[in-house]
Amino acid sequence: MMADLELRTRLMRIVPPPVINVPLWVHLIDDGSRRVTKQAVQAQVDALNNAYGGRLGGADTRVRFRVAGMTNTGNATWFRDPLGHEQAMKQALRRGGATALNLYIAELNEVVLGYGTYPYWYRTSPVLDGVVIDWRSMPGGTMRTFDRGFTAVHEIGHWLGLMHTFENGCAEPGDGVADTPPEAHPTEGCPEGKDTCPLPGKDPVRNFMDYAHDRCMSEFTAGQGARIRTAWAAYRMSDGRSTLNR
Ligand SMILES: [Zn+2]
Repeated sequence: MMADLELRTRLMRIVPPPVINVPLWVHLIDDGSRRVTKQAVQAQVDALNNAYGGRLGGADTRVRFRVAGMTNTGNATWFRDPLGHEQAMKQALRRGGATALNLYIAELNEVVLGYGTYPYWYRTSPVLDGVVIDWRSMPGGTMRTFDRGFTAVHEIGHWLGLMHTFENGCAEPGDGVADTPPEAHPTEGCPEGKDTCPLPGKDPVRNFMDYAHDRCMSEFTAGQGARIRTAWAAYRMSDGRSTLNR
């Protein structure tokens, strides 16, 4: 019994957690003039896989994204105010079940660059499940300090169950992840050595779930990867179709 437990513990250390393959539906909404190229979409998907794969720094969360399909919609009203017409837009465009990530690309503003729903909202609002981003925040876009596609990385973090690293400020339980030190308030710009809480650890200013500029963002932590897997199992795997692969 004891030996069996030891063996399993050792195996768990060696075997990396399973990969979560997320089918990605990309919905391009514009006002008639095509603004987003296929190349830009591919660059965005690459940014997602680089960020979640730990290739820019930090941990490999084991989450991977693969385009399942794309839609093109010319609708100036949805394009200019996608959140004001969220229900109608998503009702018309959303594809797949609980494991499908629907990414809507339209125009928001400088204050709200993106919006993502939490996995535990799926059960009551399956149609609204998904992420909306401003097309100018995509890699090479015109949002000056948010032009590497990390707005989508951040919002998809919420979709996968992650909170902001500044959630609850310095108070427990923070963001519910042990290896992201607490911080009192969101990070602006790219401050070095920011440390706003008495608890050990400097503020996680490079974490994708903070608010720093894209050029300073580079990492998720192993703890965030674990939280994603817990949320995935609890809220997104329950529709019966497994997307877990080695
Ligand atoms: Zn956020």
